[in-house]
Amino acid sequence: MKNLVILGAGTAGTLMANYLNRKLPDDWKITVVDQDERHYYQPGFLFLPFGIYRPEQLVKDRKRFLPKRAEYVQSPIRLIDADNNKVELEDRTLPYDVLVIATGNRIAPEETEGMKGELWHKEVFDFYTFEGANALREKLKNWKGGTLVVHQTEMPIKCPVAPLEFAFLADWYFTKKGMRDKVEILFVTPLDGAFTKPKASQKLSYLLDKKGIKEVTNFDIEAVDNDKKLIRDYTGREVGFDLLVTVPTNLGQDVIEHSGLGDDMNYVPTDKETLQSLAYDNIFVIGDATNVPASKAGSVAHFEGEILIDNILAYINGKPFPEKFDGHANCFIETGFGKALLIDFNYYTEPLEGKFPLPVIGPLSLLKETRINHWGKMAFRWIYWHMILKAIPIPFVPARMSMRGKKID
Ligand SMILES: Cc1cc2nc3c(=O)[nH]c(=O)nc-3n(C[C@H](O)[C@H](O)[C@H](O)COP(=O)(O)OP(=O)(O)OC[C@H]3O[C@@H](n4cnc5c(N)ncnc54)[C@H](O)[C@@H]3O)c2cc1C
Repeated sequence: MKNLVILGAGTAGTLMANYLNRKLPDDWKITVVDQDERHYYQPGFLFLPFGIYRPEQLVKDRKRFLPKRAEYVQSPIRLIDADNNKVELEDRTLPYDVLVIATGNRIAPEETEGMKGELWHKEVFDFYTFEGANALREKLKNWKGGTLVVHQTEMPIKCPVAPLEFAFLADWYFTKKGMRDKVEILFVTPLDGAFTKPKASQKLSYLLDKKGIKEVTNFDIEAVDNDKKLIRDYTGREVGFDLLVTVPTNLGQDVIEHSGLGDDMNYVPTDKETLQSLAYDNIFVIGDATNVPASKAGSVAHFEGEILIDNILAYINGKPFPEKFDGHANCFIETGFGKALLIDFNYYTEPLEGKFPLPVIGPLSLLKETRINHWGKMAFRWIYWHMILKAIPIPFVPARMSMRGKKID
């Protein structure tokens, strides 16, 4: 029996386990390792603070989504010993012939002076963890207003549009509560605009402006001053807050660093097209754990999975890799008041206007705020639990980006 081990049973690890269950020959054993029993629908963390989802709607038992053929081992991963093809867990060692790393990333507020200080989860919040989003939900219920600073520390972060969505939803939420005039919303970013891609950035800056949200750009944060309730950048600029909602630095997992497999942010150097580790031929990497220059998003993990399954099968059969990942990402951007934008792009093509997934009829619109896009975003939760985790391809949405329906200038 040969061994294929998957590290991490989040979005990417779970969908790979399901693909491999269907396609890996019977003389291979599949083992999946994760440290905790709960699977979170992370895109829902955005909605939790605003009471749009309840906490219990976002958590399910991890094992429910894994195939019976796979052995699930619940344990922290201590070390990946890639030179000797084995993984050290708390109480056992797992040998492998092929390893899939899907350990995702984590927020690291401790990387910024003062961020995880005395105001943490009192007046300084994240919404990238279940705990953070829940704590913020309690805070917003009774918050009387003031200056709300929505901030992102540095790139890359997972779901790079989420901080913008938070600012848009805050505008909607305080309007709905009849207290928008009591809240000043600032969007503070290290980028020179609202987003990394110029065309989408223009559109999103326009929307921030239209909603009365002030942008503060090129802000490289040095520290959070808990006493003065302000954030300071390296040039000495200061932005005061009554409530700070920040996306801290995102880093790959510590185990990647301890195992000597990471770059300076603990992401695994990975071939951006084949998804094979650059250091070890029998290691493949998927999802947020890679250093590939695609967005860190569930949609990306889903598209990567469709490519990676064929590449792993080719590898074990000694054949050349048949598939190349093109960096395809597809993200809804919730803009508040029941509307959303949609962007679809890859390594080579930035988000364009047009219709998606079908030309002319859509029904979704690219780079344009519509109600149908909003319903697409809300439907994503169902699609996540029932299609993405089960590795079922989404009709009309291929793994590699299609130019169908897109307007070329
Ligand atoms: C607020 C927010 C909004 C988002 N919105 C969207 C969206 O609208 N659309 C979208 O496509 N994506 C969105 N995302 C991003 C998406 O959730 C992630 O990109 C996706 O979950 C990545 O999958 P992954 O498998 O790589 O990592 P994860 O799903 O995070 O899984 C990693 C797994 O590895 C396990 N693990 C890590 N280290 C260890 C260890 N040492 N030992 C044992 N187990 C370990 C973890 O427990 C975890 O289960 C959002 C994320 C957030 C936080």
